[in-house]
Amino acid sequence: MATEWLQELPKESIIHKAYAFALEAHKDEERMNGDPYVSHCLEVGKTCFEWRLGDASVAAALLHDVVEDTGFTIQDIKKNFGDEVAFLVEGLTKLEHFQYPSDPDVENLRKFIISFCEDLRILIIKLADRLHNMQTLEHLPKERQQRFAWETMEIYAPLAYRLGMQRLSGELDDLAFPYVHPEEYKWLLKETKNDYTERQEYAKKVVPIITKELEKNGIHPVNVDSRAKRYFSLYRKLLRYDMDFSKIYDLVALRIVTKTVTECYAALGVVHQLWQPFPNRFKDYIARPKANGYRSLHTTVFCVDNRILEVQIRTEEMHEENELGIAAHWAYEEVKNSKKRKAKWKGVEDKKELAWVSQLQNWQKNFTGEPEFLEDLKTNFFKDRVFVLTPENDIIDLTVGATPIDFAYRIHSDVGDQCVGAKVNGRIVPLEYELHSGDVVEIITQRGKKPSESWLSIVKTVGAKKHIRNALNAGRKMLRRKTGPTAVEFKIMSADRPGYLKDVTSIFANSKINILSLSSQIDHRMKFSTITIHCGILPQQKIEKLLLKFKKIAGTREVSHRFVQ
Ligand code: MN
Repeated sequence: MATEWLQELPKESIIHKAYAFALEAHKDEERMNGDPYVSHCLEVGKTCFEWRLGDASVAAALLHDVVEDTGFTIQDIKKNFGDEVAFLVEGLTKLEHFQYPSDPDVENLRKFIISFCEDLRILIIKLADRLHNMQTLEHLPKERQQRFAWETMEIYAPLAYRLGMQRLSGELDDLAFPYVHPEEYKWLLKETKNDYTERQEYAKKVVPIITKELEKNGIHPVNVDSRAKRYFSLYRKLLRYDMDFSKIYDLVALRIVTKTVTECYAALGVVHQLWQPFPNRFKDYIARPKANGYRSLHTTVFCVDNRILEVQIRTEEMHEENELGIAAHWAYEEVKNSKKRKAKWKGVEDKKELAWVSQLQNWQKNFTGEPEFLEDLKTNFFKDRVFVLTPENDIIDLTVGATPIDFAYRIHSDVGDQCVGAKVNGRIVPLEYELHSGDVVEIITQRGKKPSESWLSIVKTVGAKKHIRNALNAGRKMLRRKTGPTAVEFKIMSADRPGYLKDVTSIFANSKINILSLSSQIDHRMKFSTITIHCGILPQQKIEKLLLKFKKIAGTREVSHRFVQ
């Protein structure tokens, strides 16, 4: 078991005490692979230690499964380790009990988890826990593997990314990739095997050339190295580039780490003097950091042998922050008062905090359960959202401009369908009332009531619109059942790439089938598009043939059809 990191710590540290406690508490438990259970706690603790979380967080990481899996209670933790550790362990235990709904709206789920973790440290420890679970996933039963991998890819990896923890996010994605998309993973591995090795060797060859040139210009880089793009992020990029590897310039990128920001720009000048820059590919994420705080210079050049190579330039400090993300800020907060580890944190103090990080932290500090706190939300996470409460104080997250009808449908489609009125903060309001953050909303329902067509122009959320249309269609179907279907509707979900729509329509043209209507919707965030096409009634055989052809188009994810009126 990996206990070396514990040796670095002073004997009287609370972390030692937590380890001893976990060791005793889990002594009769084993992991699926036969290891003593505490080995998992040790790994999670070690990761948090490496992310430089404070003593309380590392202790909580060691103890995170104690209440969940053994006879000990939160009271026991409180008695032995104090309020702070107990608070963190309690949050982790609650999170463990949280049942992930199979809600297709993963964005809401992510936000929900954020609001669920009253303290961001809980989320960060949870991410360390999830990382180790994913690293040892092979030992779990298949069904749990699938669930873990899905949650990791849809919820935890994106959350890590938003928290600026780039390396962790990429690692989680890569660990989940073979389970979530096994075929694509195998294909990518096979396709890239040579490319990776070859390009890595090429980059290595370039390192001494650029190092020498930098030195000649008085720039002494801390490090010049190459990094290979992670598999899942490569896969995601390929989906956008017609699966064409020749269009991916950053499969392997050269990375220059300097001491100061000035040197970053000076190094950029040297690179551009040495090799001609590729037009329109320069990105200054130092002047304009990414939303998650990522800072670096990116440029693409025609390098040795006129080959295209991406070069990334950043300072040591940026490099560290790009990897640790929000954990770096927490570490700073926690370590401020602890002299022992201060040495490791030189140069961090003048770090400009990411605006949204401090906003989020403030929001969390003010999270007192009073509706007023919601008025202050203006962070990136919560932009364009309103947070309203049910009479039971559950938080419901809706688009700005949402109405009580949207709220009702969010509670349950039946509540939406049967909604006849609403009370906001105890007062009756019209159904088109615009909800505000902090409103307490109560829906008045009447059995057997059906939604009205006019609601479609009132509601703001996609979910409500969908439900209303379904309910209206169901009503119409009852009326038209006698006449039978008049059209076939195809739904095609695909990677969002240029030319895809044309590939689909040309299948219709080649089969001499007239399209009655066509619409497409793009989910920019997920890079998926859904195309809906109506055409006249076709024989089943012809439908099957079409479906098969759609499936063969590069980038297709799902196809389906149904008969409609
Ligand atoms: Mn665990």
